Amino acid sequence: MITGIYPGSFDPVTLGHLDIIKRSSKLVDHLIIGVLNNSAKKPLFTAQERVEMLKLVAQDIPNVSVETFDGLTVEFAKSRNATVMFRGLRAVTDFEYEIQIAQTNHAVMPDIDTVFLTTSVQYSYLSSSIVKEVASYGGDITKFVPENILPLVLDKFKMIRSV
Ligand code: ADP
Repeated sequence: MITGIYPGSFDPVTLGHLDIIKRSSKLVDHLIIGVLNNSAKKPLFTAQERVEMLKLVAQDIPNVSVETFDGLTVEFAKSRNATVMFRGLRAVTDFEYEIQIAQTNHAVMPDIDTVFLTTSVQYSYLSSSIVKEVASYGGDITKFVPENILPLVLDKFKMIRSV
């Protein structure tokens, strides 16, 4: 039984994330999506909202579960008996950052390996920041986020605008 984790902020989950979730869930028996509960990053959505959205987008994939975690990602992976950690790679800029993290994680916890999945080309430009930027100006984000969480994302921006 191989357990993998896919950690991230998912603030909010995008179609790029969903693509990685679908593909990585096929490579392991159980995939745990780990939502980083890190207040220093000042996320727009609460950890609970991010978990709720991820549960909705992954509801049809039976071997996927969603949890929040604090602290070191490798510690979270170890506590769940995960041996693989998935990360998505978009551009060279991702690579420089990600290889440093992966090597550090490997030094700390040699039993856990990081597996990089390259982004599907249609999502290579997509990030949670782009979604927030476009939505904050009232732009159309239907091509960026999974359809069933669109209302939740839009509601957040309506709330922000009405303050
Ligand atoms: P973090 O705050 O850890 O960078 P993110 O939520 O931004 O978390 O991303 C989580 C993971 O998903 C990272 O490995 C990131 O590279 C990957 N990712 C984000 N957007 C895409 C995308 N469009 N295509 C492929 N992978 C992506």
